[in-house]
Amino acid sequence: MNLHEYQGKELLSKYGVAIQRGKLAHTIEEAVKAFEEIQKETGTEFGVVKAQIHAGGRGKGGGVKLAKNMSELKEYSGNILGMMLKTPQTPGGVDGPGKLVKKVLIAEDSYAPDFEKNKEYYVSILMDREKKQNVIIYSTKGGMNIEEVAEETPHLVHKEYVDPELGLLPFQARNVAFNLGLSGKAFKEMNAFISNLYKAFIDMDASLFEINPCLHTGDDRIVAVDCKVSIDDNALFRHPDIEAMRDTDEEDPTEVEAKSYGLNYVNLDGNVGCMVNGAGLAMATMDIIKLSGGSPANFLDVGGTADATRVEQAFRIILKDPNVKAILVNIFGGIVRCDRVAQGIVDAYKNVGNIPVPIIVRLQGTNADLGKKLIDESGLQVHSAIQLQEAADIIKRILG
Ligand code: GDP
Ligand code: MN
Repeated sequence: MNLHEYQGKELLSKYGVAIQRGKLAHTIEEAVKAFEEIQKETGTEFGVVKAQIHAGGRGKGGGVKLAKNMSELKEYSGNILGMMLKTPQTPGGVDGPGKLVKKVLIAEDSYAPDFEKNKEYYVSILMDREKKQNVIIYSTKGGMNIEEVAEETPHLVHKEYVDPELGLLPFQARNVAFNLGLSGKAFKEMNAFISNLYKAFIDMDASLFEINPCLHTGDDRIVAVDCKVSIDDNALFRHPDIEAMRDTDEEDPTEVEAKSYGLNYVNLDGNVGCMVNGAGLAMATMDIIKLSGGSPANFLDVGGTADATRVEQAFRIILKDPNVKAILVNIFGGIVRCDRVAQGIVDAYKNVGNIPVPIIVRLQGTNADLGKKLIDESGLQVHSAIQLQEAADIIKRILG
Protein backbone atom coordinates (compact mmCIF):
# COMPACT_ATOMS: atom_id res chain seq x y z
CA MET A 1 0.00 0.00 0.00
CA ASN A 2 1.34 3.42 -0.94
CA LEU A 3 1.04 6.47 1.26
CA HIS A 4 0.83 10.15 0.44
CA GLU A 5 3.86 12.32 1.13
CA TYR A 6 2.10 14.03 4.06
CA GLN A 7 1.22 10.69 5.65
CA GLY A 8 4.72 9.31 5.21
CA LYS A 9 6.22 12.42 6.79
CA GLU A 10 3.81 12.25 9.71
CA LEU A 11 4.91 8.66 10.44
CA LEU A 12 8.63 9.34 9.93
CA SER A 13 8.61 12.29 12.29
CA LYS A 14 7.30 10.00 15.05
CA TYR A 15 10.59 8.13 14.72
CA GLY A 16 12.62 11.29 15.08
CA VAL A 17 13.36 11.65 11.36
CA ALA A 18 13.64 15.37 10.58
CA ILE A 19 11.07 16.38 7.97
CA GLN A 20 10.02 19.45 6.04
CA ARG A 21 7.00 20.48 8.10
CA GLY A 22 3.64 21.16 6.54
CA LYS A 23 -0.13 21.04 6.83
CA LEU A 24 -2.74 19.49 4.60
CA ALA A 25 -5.36 21.58 2.77
CA HIS A 26 -8.33 20.65 0.58
CA THR A 27 -9.42 24.19 -0.34
CA ILE A 28 -7.82 27.58 -0.89
CA GLU A 29 -9.25 28.74 2.46
CA GLU A 30 -7.61 25.80 4.24
CA ALA A 31 -4.37 26.51 2.38
CA VAL A 32 -4.36 30.12 3.62
CA LYS A 33 -4.96 28.98 7.19
CA ALA A 34 -2.30 26.26 6.86
CA PHE A 35 0.24 28.80 5.59
CA GLU A 36 -0.47 31.18 8.48
CA GLU A 37 -0.07 28.36 10.98
CA ILE A 38 3.08 26.93 9.44
CA GLN A 39 4.62 30.43 9.33
CA LYS A 40 3.86 30.86 13.01
CA GLU A 41 5.19 27.42 13.96
CA THR A 42 8.36 27.37 11.88
CA GLY A 43 9.11 31.02 11.15
CA THR A 44 9.24 30.24 7.43
CA GLU A 45 8.83 33.20 5.10
CA PHE A 46 7.89 31.31 1.93
CA GLY A 47 5.50 28.39 1.58
CA VAL A 48 5.65 25.38 -0.72
CA VAL A 49 2.41 24.15 -2.29
CA LYS A 50 2.71 20.41 -2.97
CA ALA A 51 0.10 18.31 -4.80
CA GLN A 52 -0.71 15.14 -2.87
CA ILE A 53 -1.11 12.28 -5.32
CA HIS A 54 0.46 8.84 -5.37
CA ALA A 55 3.08 9.67 -7.99
CA GLY A 56 6.51 11.22 -8.07
CA GLY A 57 7.85 13.78 -10.52
CA ARG A 58 5.22 16.28 -9.39
CA GLY A 59 7.63 19.20 -9.45
CA LYS A 60 8.29 18.98 -13.21
CA GLY A 61 4.56 18.62 -13.89
CA GLY A 62 3.73 21.86 -12.07
CA GLY A 63 2.54 20.15 -8.89
CA VAL A 64 5.14 21.71 -6.55
CA LYS A 65 5.41 25.51 -6.33
CA LEU A 66 7.29 27.87 -4.07
CA ALA A 67 5.06 30.77 -2.97
CA LYS A 68 6.85 33.93 -1.85
CA ASN A 69 3.81 35.56 -0.28
CA MET A 70 0.17 34.94 0.57
CA SER A 71 -1.15 36.05 -2.78
CA GLU A 72 1.15 33.63 -4.63
CA LEU A 73 0.19 30.91 -2.19
CA LYS A 74 -3.49 31.46 -2.98
CA GLU A 75 -2.79 31.52 -6.69
CA TYR A 76 -0.71 28.30 -6.68
CA SER A 77 -3.12 26.46 -4.38
CA GLY A 78 -5.97 27.47 -6.67
CA ASN A 79 -4.06 26.21 -9.72
CA ILE A 80 -2.95 22.92 -8.21
CA LEU A 81 -6.15 21.95 -6.37
CA GLY A 82 -8.42 20.40 -8.98
CA MET A 83 -5.76 20.13 -11.67
CA MET A 84 -5.16 16.93 -13.65
CA LEU A 85 -1.49 16.51 -12.78
CA LYS A 86 0.58 14.64 -15.34
CA THR A 87 3.92 13.13 -14.40
CA PRO A 88 5.91 10.19 -15.78
CA GLN A 89 4.39 8.15 -12.92
CA THR A 90 0.69 8.98 -13.36
CA PRO A 91 -1.40 6.52 -15.45
CA GLY A 92 -0.32 6.67 -19.08
CA GLY A 93 2.60 8.95 -18.21
CA VAL A 94 2.83 12.58 -19.33
CA ASP A 95 0.65 11.80 -22.37
CA GLY A 96 -2.05 10.21 -20.19
CA PRO A 97 -5.05 11.94 -18.61
CA GLY A 98 -3.15 12.75 -15.40
CA LYS A 99 -4.43 12.47 -11.87
CA LEU A 100 -6.94 14.75 -10.16
CA VAL A 101 -5.38 16.64 -7.25
CA LYS A 102 -7.76 16.78 -4.30
CA LYS A 103 -5.41 18.00 -1.61
CA VAL A 104 -2.18 19.92 -1.20
CA LEU A 105 0.49 20.01 1.46
CA ILE A 106 1.41 23.53 2.49
CA ALA A 107 5.01 23.19 3.64
CA GLU A 108 7.73 25.39 5.09
CA ASP A 109 10.53 26.47 2.78
CA SER A 110 13.30 24.10 3.85
CA TYR A 111 15.81 25.68 1.47
CA ALA A 112 15.84 29.08 3.24
CA PRO A 113 17.66 31.26 4.08
CA ASP A 114 20.45 30.66 1.58
CA PHE A 115 19.21 28.58 -1.31
CA GLU A 116 22.70 28.17 -2.80
CA LYS A 117 24.09 26.53 0.31
CA ASN A 118 21.73 23.55 0.15
CA LYS A 119 22.79 20.15 -1.10
CA GLU A 120 20.28 17.55 -2.27
CA TYR A 121 20.97 13.89 -1.55
CA TYR A 122 19.10 10.71 -2.34
CA VAL A 123 18.28 8.08 0.28
CA SER A 124 16.08 5.01 -0.08
CA ILE A 125 15.57 1.72 1.73
CA LEU A 126 14.14 -1.38 0.12
CA MET A 127 14.61 -5.11 0.03
CA ASP A 128 17.13 -6.69 -2.30
CA ARG A 129 15.44 -10.01 -3.01
CA GLU A 130 18.51 -11.66 -4.50
CA LYS A 131 20.67 -10.82 -1.51
CA LYS A 132 17.79 -11.45 0.90
CA GLN A 133 18.72 -8.28 2.72
CA ASN A 134 17.44 -4.77 3.07
CA VAL A 135 19.59 -2.23 1.34
CA ILE A 136 20.06 1.49 1.89
CA ILE A 137 20.73 3.14 -1.45
CA TYR A 138 22.09 6.66 -1.30
CA SER A 139 23.76 9.26 -3.43
CA THR A 140 25.03 12.83 -3.44
CA LYS A 141 22.98 13.26 -6.62
CA GLY A 142 19.58 13.96 -5.10
CA GLY A 143 16.53 15.69 -6.47
CA MET A 144 16.66 13.72 -9.70
CA ASN A 145 15.57 10.32 -10.92
CA ILE A 146 17.86 7.71 -9.32
CA GLU A 147 17.56 5.41 -12.36
CA GLU A 148 19.15 8.18 -14.43
CA VAL A 149 21.90 8.72 -11.86
CA ALA A 150 22.62 4.97 -11.87
CA GLU A 151 22.76 5.00 -15.65
CA GLU A 152 24.97 8.06 -16.09
CA THR A 153 27.12 8.08 -12.95
CA PRO A 154 26.92 4.62 -11.36
CA HIS A 155 29.94 5.37 -9.12
CA LEU A 156 27.83 7.98 -7.33
CA VAL A 157 25.23 5.44 -6.20
CA HIS A 158 26.21 3.77 -2.91
CA LYS A 159 24.65 0.79 -1.18
CA GLU A 160 24.69 -0.38 2.40
CA TYR A 161 23.34 -3.91 2.88
CA VAL A 162 21.81 -4.75 6.24
CA ASP A 163 22.03 -8.22 7.73
CA PRO A 164 18.50 -9.17 8.88
CA GLU A 165 19.86 -10.92 11.99
CA LEU A 166 22.07 -8.07 13.12
CA GLY A 167 19.97 -5.14 11.98
CA LEU A 168 21.57 -1.83 11.05
CA LEU A 169 24.85 -1.57 12.92
CA PRO A 170 26.09 1.84 14.10
CA PHE A 171 29.11 1.79 11.79
CA GLN A 172 26.80 1.37 8.80
CA ALA A 173 24.90 4.58 9.49
CA ARG A 174 28.29 6.30 9.86
CA ASN A 175 29.36 4.77 6.54
CA VAL A 176 26.47 6.51 4.81
CA ALA A 177 27.37 9.88 6.33
CA PHE A 178 31.04 9.35 5.48
CA ASN A 179 30.42 8.34 1.86
CA LEU A 180 28.23 11.41 1.40
CA GLY A 181 31.31 13.43 2.35
CA LEU A 182 29.88 14.81 5.59
CA SER A 183 31.68 15.93 8.72
CA GLY A 184 30.92 17.68 11.99
CA LYS A 185 27.30 18.50 12.72
CA ALA A 186 26.01 17.27 9.35
CA PHE A 187 27.76 13.93 9.90
CA LYS A 188 26.02 13.48 13.26
CA GLU A 189 22.67 14.53 11.84
CA MET A 190 22.93 12.13 8.92
CA ASN A 191 23.96 9.36 11.28
CA ALA A 192 20.82 9.91 13.38
CA PHE A 193 18.69 10.39 10.26
CA ILE A 194 19.72 7.01 8.82
CA SER A 195 19.38 5.15 12.16
CA ASN A 196 15.90 6.56 12.80
CA LEU A 197 14.83 6.00 9.21
CA TYR A 198 15.91 2.36 9.32
CA LYS A 199 14.12 1.80 12.63
CA ALA A 200 10.94 3.27 11.11
CA PHE A 201 11.33 1.03 8.04
CA ILE A 202 11.45 -2.13 10.16
CA ASP A 203 8.79 -1.07 12.65
CA MET A 204 6.32 -0.07 9.95
CA ASP A 205 6.88 -3.22 7.85
CA ALA A 206 7.67 -0.94 4.94
CA SER A 207 8.67 -2.27 1.53
CA LEU A 208 10.01 1.05 0.26
CA PHE A 209 11.18 4.37 1.64
CA GLU A 210 12.45 6.92 -0.83
CA ILE A 211 13.64 10.29 0.44
CA ASN A 212 14.41 12.42 -2.59
CA PRO A 213 15.58 15.01 -2.00
CA CYS A 214 17.11 14.42 1.40
CA LEU A 215 18.28 17.96 2.06
CA HIS A 216 21.56 19.04 3.61
CA THR A 217 20.85 22.64 4.62
CA GLY A 218 23.31 25.52 4.85
CA ASP A 219 23.25 25.22 8.63
CA ASP A 220 24.06 21.48 8.44
CA ARG A 221 20.68 19.99 9.18
CA ILE A 222 19.46 16.88 7.33
CA VAL A 223 15.79 17.08 6.33
CA ALA A 224 13.41 14.81 4.43
CA VAL A 225 11.90 17.22 1.89
CA ASP A 226 10.01 14.52 0.00
CA CYS A 227 9.11 10.99 0.95
CA LYS A 228 7.62 8.02 -0.75
CA VAL A 229 6.47 5.26 1.59
CA SER A 230 5.08 1.83 0.63
CA ILE A 231 3.94 -0.66 3.24
CA ASP A 232 3.94 -4.44 2.76
CA ASP A 233 0.25 -5.31 2.27
CA ASN A 234 0.71 -8.64 4.01
CA ALA A 235 1.77 -6.88 7.21
CA LEU A 236 -1.00 -4.29 7.25
CA PHE A 237 -3.02 -6.30 9.74
CA ARG A 238 -0.35 -5.38 12.28
CA HIS A 239 -0.78 -1.66 11.57
CA PRO A 240 -4.44 -0.63 11.74
CA ASP A 241 -3.33 3.01 12.13
CA ILE A 242 -1.48 2.84 8.80
CA GLU A 243 -4.21 0.81 7.11
CA ALA A 244 -6.62 3.64 8.04
CA MET A 245 -4.47 5.95 5.87
CA ARG A 246 -5.42 4.06 2.71
CA ASP A 247 -6.67 6.46 0.04
CA THR A 248 -8.76 4.38 -2.36
CA ASP A 249 -9.12 7.43 -4.66
CA GLU A 250 -5.51 6.80 -5.62
CA GLU A 251 -5.93 3.11 -6.40
CA ASP A 252 -7.28 1.24 -9.43
CA PRO A 253 -11.08 1.14 -8.82
CA THR A 254 -11.42 -2.46 -10.08
CA GLU A 255 -8.59 -3.59 -7.80
CA VAL A 256 -10.27 -1.86 -4.86
CA GLU A 257 -13.57 -3.62 -5.61
CA ALA A 258 -11.82 -7.00 -6.01
CA LYS A 259 -10.11 -6.49 -2.69
CA SER A 260 -13.47 -5.87 -1.01
CA TYR A 261 -14.53 -9.36 -2.21
CA GLY A 262 -11.30 -10.87 -0.94
CA LEU A 263 -10.07 -11.53 -4.49
CA ASN A 264 -6.42 -11.08 -5.24
CA TYR A 265 -6.59 -9.09 -8.50
CA VAL A 266 -4.04 -7.10 -10.46
CA ASN A 267 -5.06 -5.40 -13.69
CA LEU A 268 -2.70 -5.86 -16.67
CA ASP A 269 -2.86 -4.72 -20.27
CA GLY A 270 -3.42 -7.97 -22.19
CA ASN A 271 -6.55 -9.52 -23.75
CA VAL A 272 -7.09 -12.86 -21.98
CA GLY A 273 -8.79 -12.67 -18.60
CA CYS A 274 -7.68 -15.31 -16.11
CA MET A 275 -9.46 -16.78 -13.14
CA VAL A 276 -7.28 -19.14 -11.18
CA ASN A 277 -7.03 -20.59 -7.69
CA GLY A 278 -3.60 -20.15 -6.13
CA ALA A 279 -0.95 -17.58 -6.94
CA GLY A 280 1.53 -20.10 -8.37
CA LEU A 281 -1.02 -21.59 -10.72
CA ALA A 282 -2.05 -18.07 -11.70
CA MET A 283 1.53 -17.30 -12.72
CA ALA A 284 1.78 -20.57 -14.69
CA THR A 285 -1.52 -19.75 -16.39
CA MET A 286 -0.25 -16.34 -17.42
CA ASP A 287 2.84 -18.03 -18.88
CA ILE A 288 0.81 -20.49 -20.93
CA ILE A 289 -1.38 -17.67 -22.24
CA LYS A 290 1.76 -15.86 -23.41
CA LEU A 291 3.13 -19.03 -25.00
CA SER A 292 -0.08 -19.53 -26.95
CA GLY A 293 0.13 -16.06 -28.43
CA GLY A 294 -2.23 -14.17 -26.14
CA SER A 295 -1.36 -11.87 -23.31
CA PRO A 296 -2.93 -11.90 -19.83
CA ALA A 297 -5.41 -9.12 -19.02
CA ASN A 298 -5.01 -9.67 -15.32
CA PHE A 299 -3.68 -11.70 -12.47
CA LEU A 300 -6.55 -13.11 -10.43
CA ASP A 301 -6.33 -15.57 -7.59
CA VAL A 302 -9.83 -16.51 -6.42
CA GLY A 303 -8.39 -18.35 -3.44
CA GLY A 304 -9.14 -21.81 -2.11
CA THR A 305 -12.93 -21.68 -1.99
CA ALA A 306 -13.82 -21.23 -5.64
CA ASP A 307 -17.58 -21.28 -4.93
CA ALA A 308 -20.35 -19.83 -7.11
CA THR A 309 -20.41 -16.42 -5.38
CA ARG A 310 -16.68 -15.88 -5.71
CA VAL A 311 -16.60 -17.15 -9.29
CA GLU A 312 -19.45 -14.77 -10.12
CA GLN A 313 -17.67 -11.81 -8.50
CA ALA A 314 -14.51 -12.76 -10.34
CA PHE A 315 -16.36 -12.88 -13.73
CA ARG A 316 -17.82 -9.43 -13.07
CA ILE A 317 -14.41 -8.00 -12.17
CA ILE A 318 -12.69 -9.48 -15.24
CA LEU A 319 -15.47 -8.27 -17.55
CA LYS A 320 -15.00 -4.65 -16.44
CA ASP A 321 -11.88 -4.62 -18.58
CA PRO A 322 -12.90 -3.80 -22.19
CA ASN A 323 -9.70 -5.36 -23.54
CA VAL A 324 -10.73 -8.86 -22.49
CA LYS A 325 -11.38 -11.05 -25.57
CA ALA A 326 -11.53 -14.44 -23.81
CA ILE A 327 -11.51 -15.75 -20.29
CA LEU A 328 -9.50 -18.72 -19.12
CA VAL A 329 -10.70 -20.34 -15.92
CA ASN A 330 -8.03 -22.61 -14.52
CA ILE A 331 -8.95 -24.31 -11.26
CA PHE A 332 -7.16 -27.08 -9.48
CA GLY A 333 -9.54 -29.14 -7.36
CA GLY A 334 -7.49 -30.12 -4.37
CA ILE A 335 -9.47 -29.15 -1.32
CA VAL A 336 -12.41 -28.09 -3.45
CA ARG A 337 -14.00 -30.68 -5.81
CA CYS A 338 -14.04 -29.96 -9.55
CA ASP A 339 -17.73 -30.83 -9.96
CA ARG A 340 -18.63 -28.24 -7.32
CA VAL A 341 -16.47 -25.67 -9.04
CA ALA A 342 -18.05 -26.54 -12.39
CA GLN A 343 -21.53 -26.11 -10.93
CA GLY A 344 -20.36 -22.77 -9.49
CA ILE A 345 -19.16 -21.68 -12.93
CA VAL A 346 -22.43 -22.69 -14.60
CA ASP A 347 -24.47 -20.84 -11.94
CA ALA A 348 -22.25 -17.79 -12.08
CA TYR A 349 -22.41 -17.77 -15.88
CA LYS A 350 -26.21 -17.74 -15.75
CA ASN A 351 -26.32 -15.07 -13.03
CA VAL A 352 -23.90 -12.70 -14.75
CA GLY A 353 -25.85 -13.23 -17.97
CA ASN A 354 -24.82 -12.36 -21.49
CA ILE A 355 -21.07 -12.83 -21.17
CA PRO A 356 -19.84 -11.41 -24.49
CA VAL A 357 -16.55 -13.34 -24.71
CA PRO A 358 -15.76 -17.04 -24.95
CA ILE A 359 -14.87 -18.84 -21.75
CA ILE A 360 -12.45 -21.73 -21.54
CA VAL A 361 -12.64 -23.78 -18.39
CA ARG A 362 -9.84 -26.07 -17.39
CA LEU A 363 -10.48 -28.18 -14.30
CA GLN A 364 -7.95 -30.59 -12.90
CA GLY A 365 -7.91 -32.63 -9.72
CA THR A 366 -10.65 -34.34 -7.72
CA ASN A 367 -13.68 -35.25 -9.89
CA ALA A 368 -12.22 -33.45 -12.91
CA ASP A 369 -14.17 -35.72 -15.32
CA LEU A 370 -17.45 -35.00 -13.58
CA GLY A 371 -16.68 -31.31 -13.72
CA LYS A 372 -15.99 -31.44 -17.46
CA LYS A 373 -19.22 -33.38 -18.03
CA LEU A 374 -21.21 -30.75 -16.12
CA ILE A 375 -19.75 -27.95 -18.23
CA ASP A 376 -20.23 -29.87 -21.51
CA GLU A 377 -23.86 -30.65 -20.69
CA SER A 378 -24.75 -27.20 -19.41
CA GLY A 379 -25.61 -25.95 -22.90
CA LEU A 380 -23.63 -22.77 -22.26
CA GLN A 381 -21.01 -21.29 -24.56
CA VAL A 382 -18.20 -22.60 -22.40
CA HIS A 383 -15.28 -24.63 -23.73
CA SER A 384 -13.99 -27.25 -21.38
CA ALA A 385 -10.54 -28.75 -21.15
CA ILE A 386 -8.73 -30.91 -18.68
CA GLN A 387 -5.16 -30.41 -19.81
CA LEU A 388 -3.73 -26.91 -19.63
CA GLN A 389 -2.25 -27.35 -23.12
CA GLU A 390 -5.75 -28.06 -24.50
CA ALA A 391 -6.97 -24.87 -22.88
CA ALA A 392 -4.08 -22.96 -24.43
CA ASP A 393 -4.83 -24.47 -27.86
CA ILE A 394 -8.47 -23.39 -27.60
CA ILE A 395 -7.37 -19.85 -26.78
CA LYS A 396 -5.01 -19.84 -29.75
CA ARG A 397 -7.86 -20.94 -32.01
CA ILE A 398 -10.26 -18.33 -30.63
CA LEU A 399 -7.84 -15.42 -30.80
CA GLY A 400 -6.86 -16.57 -34.29
P1 GDP B 1 8.51 15.42 -6.67
O1 GDP B 1 8.76 16.31 -7.85
O2 GDP B 1 7.18 14.71 -6.78
O3 GDP B 1 9.62 14.46 -6.44
O4 GDP B 1 8.35 16.38 -5.38
P2 GDP B 1 9.46 16.94 -4.34
O5 GDP B 1 8.85 16.99 -3.01
O6 GDP B 1 10.73 16.16 -4.44
O7 GDP B 1 9.70 18.41 -4.82
C1 GDP B 1 10.20 18.72 -6.10
C2 GDP B 1 11.27 19.78 -6.02
O8 GDP B 1 10.73 20.98 -5.46
C3 GDP B 1 12.43 19.45 -5.11
O9 GDP B 1 13.40 18.65 -5.76
C4 GDP B 1 12.98 20.81 -4.77
O10 GDP B 1 13.86 21.23 -5.77
C5 GDP B 1 11.73 21.68 -4.79
N1 GDP B 1 11.33 21.97 -3.41
C6 GDP B 1 10.66 21.15 -2.56
N2 GDP B 1 10.55 21.71 -1.34
C7 GDP B 1 11.15 22.93 -1.43
C8 GDP B 1 11.37 24.00 -0.49
O11 GDP B 1 11.00 23.91 0.68
N3 GDP B 1 12.00 25.10 -0.95
C9 GDP B 1 12.44 25.22 -2.23
N4 GDP B 1 13.05 26.34 -2.59
N5 GDP B 1 12.27 24.23 -3.13
C10 GDP B 1 11.63 23.09 -2.74
MN1 MN C 1 10.92 14.03 -4.91
